[in-house]
Amino acid sequence: MNFLASSASDLVKNLESGDVSSGDLTRVFLDRIDSCNGQVRAFSSVTAEAALAQAEELDERRSGGQAVGKLAGIPLAVKDVLCTKGQLTTCGSRMLSSYAPPYDATVIARLRAAGAVLLGKTNMDEFAMGSSTETSFHGPTANPWDRGRIPGGSSGGAAAAVAASMAPLSVGSDTGGSIRQPAAFCGVVGLKPTYGRVSRYGLVAFASSLDQVGPLAATAEDAALLLEVIAGHDELDSTSAELPVPSYSELLAEPLQGLRIGIVESHFADGLDGEIEASVRRAITLYEQLGATVHPVELPHSRYAIATYYIIASCEASGNLARYDGAHYGHRTDEGRMLEELAEERRMLVEAGDSAGAEQIDGPLVRMYRRTRAEGFGDEVKRRIMLGTYALSAGYYDAYYLKALKVRRRIRDDFDAAFQQVDVIAGPVTPTPAFALGERMDDPLAMYLGDLYTVSANLAGLPALSLPCGFSDSGLPIGLQLQAPPFEEARLLRAAHQFQQETDWHARRPSLVEES
Ligand code: GLN
Repeated sequence: MNFLASSASDLVKNLESGDVSSGDLTRVFLDRIDSCNGQVRAFSSVTAEAALAQAEELDERRSGGQAVGKLAGIPLAVKDVLCTKGQLTTCGSRMLSSYAPPYDATVIARLRAAGAVLLGKTNMDEFAMGSSTETSFHGPTANPWDRGRIPGGSSGGAAAAVAASMAPLSVGSDTGGSIRQPAAFCGVVGLKPTYGRVSRYGLVAFASSLDQVGPLAATAEDAALLLEVIAGHDELDSTSAELPVPSYSELLAEPLQGLRIGIVESHFADGLDGEIEASVRRAITLYEQLGATVHPVELPHSRYAIATYYIIASCEASGNLARYDGAHYGHRTDEGRMLEELAEERRMLVEAGDSAGAEQIDGPLVRMYRRTRAEGFGDEVKRRIMLGTYALSAGYYDAYYLKALKVRRRIRDDFDAAFQQVDVIAGPVTPTPAFALGERMDDPLAMYLGDLYTVSANLAGLPALSLPCGFSDSGLPIGLQLQAPPFEEARLLRAAHQFQQETDWHARRPSLVEES
């Protein structure tokens, strides 16, 4: 049996019926990682020993007749932004390059309790800031469909791991598109849940009012299974919603008859790649054939979404990243060298007759902060900290941050009005297919503008899903985005699942030359 090509839902059955043991299944995926990760670099760390120990323990429990969880024995990859106890959690940053947290994120604890086997941590843009996985301290991940291209970001490793069959499931995070955009670029399903649906406890914070954890998988059915396990209230995250978690997997089959799909015509305006437009429109036609009806809706303020997002996200990031000071955890500059330099500077000032100046220069603590942060953060992270600090500074706060908050409210109001008329909104995920490695690294604005279609859902706190709906002539995957009102993840998964019953875009896999 080719377990690498199986869905997680099928693997659950294979494990239950004893076709394969958890230990053997884990070895199948670890071997695949061994032979493909060199080409794709989806994983920044692989925890083979811990994975095998976990799998073998599950096999024992199962053979002893003990209860096992919903994902018992299913191998899984986790974006390196979620804390895993005693295991590296680097966030793609030099700042955390040797950080092994003393606790598990709630999502990780729930996955372990459900019996999922953690294969390792996946590569990502530094602190989740980016759209290409190129800002990672570990170097870029390659798109498995074309290794000269980016896999998207910031959860590029998580998407590439699933696309390259190195894990049947992965967990990512999405602040402005970081699950959906790499899912689209790699040809897999990615879901950003409603803000508050999944606990953020133990998720390294980027922009706390936007961040959400969510599933990536080859099929909507698998995403449903994973969401069921990770969603739900957590008393360790006061923003997590106190709402019951539906059995998403059981709600997939309800017919789409009468589903009202909203289309925002301005999403198809200039700048959208022609092949993406054609695939997205074809997907919408298929929904009509499945019984849905299509209606024009407007989201007039979404043209301000990019500006609003980059102000709010950077402001929150500048606060969240203040904690990396070298004193508590993470990278700390070489203090011996720093003190030598300080002494040298003082000596030179005194020699030059400026003893007063020598008294006034920055002392060891300030120097330690400054050098630690200069060394620990990469360029994009520094850019965000500067943008955020500027926008929050006295005199600019009202003009930027406060204004952005007001526009954010309007963006949400537009969605609320649209969802009076329709059940979901369908459109593109990205304006272009995956771009070449290096193409946008010197042009941050071009990188930011690619987030055009994804950031609104985060600003409005809505659930949004990306699913494969075609390929470009050059063989690159194309994604369809579906957005829904708060806590209507079931509706998105059901619409995606039924689309996948009629199409086979999700079943295609890139061909990778196995090294051994
Ligand atoms: N590309 C966006 C950014 O760079 C979104 C990233 C994310 O969702 N983590 O901020």
